[in-house]
Amino acid sequence: MADNTMSFLFTIIISFGFCVLYASAELQRFALSSKHDGSLSFLVLGDWGRRGAYNQSQVAFQMGKVGEKLDIDFVVSTGDNFYDNGLTSDHDNAFEESFTKIYTAKSLQKQWYSVLGNHDYRGDAEAQLSPVLREIDSRWLCLRSFIVDSELVEIFFVDTTPFVHDYFIQPQEHKYDWRGIGSQKPYITNLLKDVELALRESTARWKIVVGHHAIRSVGHHGDTQELINQLLPILQANNIDFYMNGHDHCLEHISDTESPIQFLTSGAGSKAWRGDTKQMNRRDLNFFYDGQGFMSVKLTQTDASIEFYDVFGNVLHRLTSSKQLHSSM
Ligand SMILES: [Zn+2]
Repeated sequence: MADNTMSFLFTIIISFGFCVLYASAELQRFALSSKHDGSLSFLVLGDWGRRGAYNQSQVAFQMGKVGEKLDIDFVVSTGDNFYDNGLTSDHDNAFEESFTKIYTAKSLQKQWYSVLGNHDYRGDAEAQLSPVLREIDSRWLCLRSFIVDSELVEIFFVDTTPFVHDYFIQPQEHKYDWRGIGSQKPYITNLLKDVELALRESTARWKIVVGHHAIRSVGHHGDTQELINQLLPILQANNIDFYMNGHDHCLEHISDTESPIQFLTSGAGSKAWRGDTKQMNRRDLNFFYDGQGFMSVKLTQTDASIEFYDVFGNVLHRLTSSKQLHSSM
């Protein structure tokens, strides 16, 4: 009897401990407030930090102009924030030289929400997550995975670098900073669980997922098979509208063939690779541009409007998506 009671208590303690552990892994949330008219707009930029070189400054200049026109609320960075190998520490002056001193336009003095790319993991990955950077420039907010939300939109930022097997088994000459990740498999399993739960519970009008690696791309790296296998089914099952990424240094728009999801690459913040493409004839490809640029997003209760810009500020491609307001029964 006493043994049974003990084992019962033990089970409760273990379960409780497990719940606490699981709850603590829940994705951190940041609240967004919409404009007075209920809309939100933002810019999306990826693969940028080169101390202004390779047209980074020109892209920044055009972002400032478009940001002002759209009265943007924030900026999303899809990762590979600092080249070639992330930051060396939270006192690396590349942070100011590639970020603070480049994105100087008034319209860009808003919150920046950033994920880490594979190049960021080649330096001190934790430096980019450090509150020290926020003291240097309060716009900066970079975490591995997190959620930004309002009633209008929920944006799920997912740490995609640890999904890619080659970075673990064939890192070649590169060293990745896996502190804070531990083993690949449990990290991914827990992350997918958290993302799935958060997506399932979301009641936002628009659901957007942001990661560094493309799910679908015709650029240099192409599709990311690990994300197709593990992340995409969760996104398809939970009616997300857009998946936004960087990694390939281009701008592109590809439609999912099995769901309404639109794949949008904005990884053209500085160096681009002209003509470095594959599978250009695929049917799901709507738009591809192999020069520098960025993307803008405007959301209302009923409409999403997304535009891709080149380094001269020309609109290269536009997509719109509409949703009916719920009719009263
Ligand atoms: Zn990358």
